[in-house]
Amino acid sequence: MDRLNPEQRRRTMRAVRSSRTSLEDQLAHELWTRGFRYRRNQVGLFGRPDFSNQRRRLVVFVDSCFWHGCPVHYRAPTSNVQYWSEKLERNRMRDSAVDAYYAGRGWTSIRVWEHDLKLDPGREAEQVIERAGARP
Ligand SMILES: [Zn+2]
Repeated sequence: MDRLNPEQRRRTMRAVRSSRTSLEDQLAHELWTRGFRYRRNQVGLFGRPDFSNQRRRLVVFVDSCFWHGCPVHYRAPTSNVQYWSEKLERNRMRDSAVDAYYAGRGWTSIRVWEHDLKLDPGREAEQVIERAGARP
């Protein structure tokens, strides 16, 4: 059984979402202070990347450990087991479809794990910039 009741579960899931938003804010800040320019949540880009730079043909996704099934931190909820496992599977399939879409068009698609961002947002920003600059 889930140790949370449905209402508590709903709130927990919502909190997962909002903490993700503030991590994106941190990455945005770290990228910006390093002079890296980007657009956030640009409308019309496939897969709704969190950050993008059209000139560099770069998209960046911040993947939450829960919603994207981080190998280190993902813990399946113990209620609605099938619902959550199917949802995770769909998310994973969407992630790889999105990556394939950009790779097929010569874009760089970078995924940043929530846990790495929490640990050191500055380092993650530097890695994004490094990979963005690595293209000719
Ligand atoms: Zn994680």
